[in-house]
Formats: sequence, C-alpha cells, structure tokens
Amino acid sequence: MQILSEYPLQSQHTFGAPVYAQQWLAIRTAEELVELIKQGDYQEVPKLILGGGSNILFTRSVEGLLLHNEIQGIETLKEEEGHIWLKVGGGVNWHELVIHCVSHDWGGMENLSLIPGTVGAAPIQNIGAYGVELKDIFVSLEAIDMQTGQTLHFDKEACEFGYRNSVFKNAWKGRVFITQVVFKLSTANHQINTSYGAIKSTLEAMGEGEFPSVQAISKAVVQIRQSKLPDPAVLGNCGSFFKNPEIPLALFEQLKNQFPEMIGYPTAPETIKVPAGWLIDQCGWKGKRVGNVGAYEKQALVLVNHGGATGQEAWALALQIQASVQKKFGLLIEPEVNIY
Ligand code: FAD
Ligand code: NAP
Repeated sequence: MQILSEYPLQSQHTFGAPVYAQQWLAIRTAEELVELIKQGDYQEVPKLILGGGSNILFTRSVEGLLLHNEIQGIETLKEEEGHIWLKVGGGVNWHELVIHCVSHDWGGMENLSLIPGTVGAAPIQNIGAYGVELKDIFVSLEAIDMQTGQTLHFDKEACEFGYRNSVFKNAWKGRVFITQVVFKLSTANHQINTSYGAIKSTLEAMGEGEFPSVQAISKAVVQIRQSKLPDPAVLGNCGSFFKNPEIPLALFEQLKNQFPEMIGYPTAPETIKVPAGWLIDQCGWKGKRVGNVGAYEKQALVLVNHGGATGQEAWALALQIQASVQKKFGLLIEPEVNIY
C-alpha cells in the first residue's frame, strides 16, 4: 500500500475543480482496506471514499486520506431459470459493466447505460434513469465498516432504497465502504422498458422493430444521453445538481393553477415529482453563464464548468438558483450532488 501526498484530484472527478487530497491511497481489495483500518495509525485520520467522482463537488481540497475505489472483478455466481447472478467489484466502471452485460444479452441494466461512476457508488443513490432504478436488478452488497473493519452484508430490504435514496445516504452515511455488489439479470424473456422519453422513437429511427434487443436499447439510451447531456470529458459537470422535489398532490394542484404549464409525475398516490430542471428553466437559468460556471444550455439542472471553475463558484451559483426557485415557486430544491 503506497500512500501518496498532495495528490491532484482534478482528473479524478467529473466537475474538474483544481483540488488536492492531502493523502491518497488506491484500494484494490477489501483485505487491503481492512488492513488499513486495523493498523490504528489511520483510525483518527478523516477519510473520504472516491469512486468515479461524478456525484461530488469539491469546494476545497481533501483533508486527511482519500480512498480511491479500484476493486475490480466481474464473477458469475450462478445461472438458472432464465437468470444470472453476478458479483461485481465496487471499483468497476458502471458503464463498462452495462456494456459487458448487454453484449452477453443479459437484461436489466440497458436503460442505465452511460451513467458515469463506479458500481460501489451506484447503490448509494439507487441510480436511476429512463424509468429503471438500480434496485430493480439489485440482490445484495458487501461493505466494510470504516470504524471496525468488519465485513457487513446488506440485502435489498436493508438498503432501504427510495427515489435516488438509500440507507447509505441516511443512517449509514459515510460509515461503510461498498466493496462488492450482487446483481440478478435476465438471460431470456427480458422485461424491457422502452416507454420512457425518446427511447421508442429513437429505436424506430434506428430501424428496430417491436422487440428490440437489450443491446439496441442500450445504444438508443446512449444516443439520447449524448444528444442531451454534457460529456464530462468535454464540459466538466456533476450530473443533475438538484433532486426533483416530491410534493403533496394538493400543493401541486395549487401551483398548477398559478403555473398551468407545470409538469408533474406521480410517485405515490398523493405525491407528485416536479422536474427540478423545469423549475430552474422557468427562473431563466438555462444556458446562463456566471463567470466560469453556468446552467447547461440543453438541461438547466446540470451545472457546468466552462473552464477554470472552482467548486466554490459552482456552489455559489447553485445557491442563487435554489433561492430563485424558492422565490418563484415556494419550493426548496435540494442538492443531489455530495458537497465536500
Ligand atoms: P463518487 O462521485 O465518487 O462518490 C459519490 C458519493 O459516494 C461520495 O460521497 C463518496 O464518498 C461516496 N462513495 C463512492 N463510492 C463509495 C463506496 N464504494 N462506498 C461508500 N461510499 C462511496 N445518476 C443517476 O442516478 N442517474 C443518471 O442518469 C446519472 N447521470 C449522470 C450523468 C452525468 C454526466 C454525471 C456527471 C452524473 C450522473 N449521475 C447520474 C450521477 C452519478 O453518476 C451517480 O451518482 C454515480 O453512481 C456516482 O458514482 P461515482 O463512483 O462517481 O461516485
Ligand atoms: P428528461 O427525460 O428530460 O426528463 C426530465 C424530468 O422529467 C426527469 O427528472 C424525469 O424524472 C422526469 N420524467 C420524464 N419522463 C418521465 C416519465 N415518463 N415518468 C416519470 N418521470 C419522468 O430528463 P434528462 O435530464 O434528459 O435525463 C434523462 C434520464 O437520465 C432521467 O431519468 C434522469 O433522472 C437521468 N439523469 C440523471 C442524472 C443525475 O445526475 N442524477 C443526470 C442525467 C440524467 P427522473 O429523473 O425521475 O427520471
């Protein structure tokens, strides 16, 4: 194990802020991590786990020790009755896993194509896109308790998955390092979901018929995402900056009287999810630039680094946007991105 000092993080997170980690260590196996925790020397040192850095905004350099998740491996646990169980290392790149699965014609992950980041971080916010969530294919995970070094197992119920939420954003926040995740995918009779957004029309344009393959769906999702979302390699960003607020139906109806164009999707019988991007757009932020940061021209929910931006600049813009949405609609939009 080689701990490095003053390690630059600009290329280790998708927003690209010029920050450093006081100390940096690659974690390649769960055993290495347990050894570190049990050594004692590092017990009191503050630690931050980093995967692909696609859901974090650094407003300052990292104090203490940054643990970079590089645990690899895709292992088949079993295959039976039209399903396959895979155990995947937490440091595996999420999209590479999706490509691996669709190329084997295993179904379930195709709508989650091109989401940046690692497998280990995916359960934390129950990643979701185009009507599918991680919980739909999740079986269990293994994690290391950062205080004791003990191995913990979480099944689906224990993860308490919600809309972009889980127990790892609540009771277990910051307390565990997710080292492995087990998924269950279909190997036949795939339950495809093409009803969301532009998937169907994109598949049609691609010449796909009524029963597209999971590979074709993945390609369609990639195409849609590339046309609408900024590529972090070109324009730094950390994805959707705010969560979509979920509000009581009565409040939604009241707001709809005032703002007839307001969009909403039911998430429970009396709860409506309002797209945060729409609210921000209505406040005039879409495409607006403030110094080196701005709201992306095609999706106002994504705050972008036009070059040379710091995390503080992005955070200052986020606060301005939040205040303007609160003023116009009386709704509090909360960051989805982890602010460091
Ligand atoms: P990081 O940013 O490295 O870490 C995020 C948080 O999790 C940090 O607090 C970190 O300390 C903690 N953490 C990371 N790994 C571990 C671990 N192994 N154990 C414990 N804690 C850990 N999200 C969606 O849900 N749907 C989308 O469609 C989507 N699209 C995106 C598009 C773009 C262009 C970008 C930039 C982001 C998008 N995101 C999306 C957000 C992001 O990709 C996901 O949240 C992703 O799961 C983050 O993974 P990561 O490895 O980059 O996490
Ligand atoms: P979009 O398709 O333009 O949709 C805008 C918003 O409306 C989204 O918040 C979406 O909710 C909601 N929506 C649209 N159609 C819906 C339906 N049929 N049922 C329920 N809700 C619906 O969004 P986009 O920005 O281009 O992103 C496409 C997908 O990728 C979305 O699922 C989005 O969540 C995901 N994404 C996430 C991030 C991130 O960082 N978290 C970044 C980029 C894209 P949902 O968000 O709940 O789907």
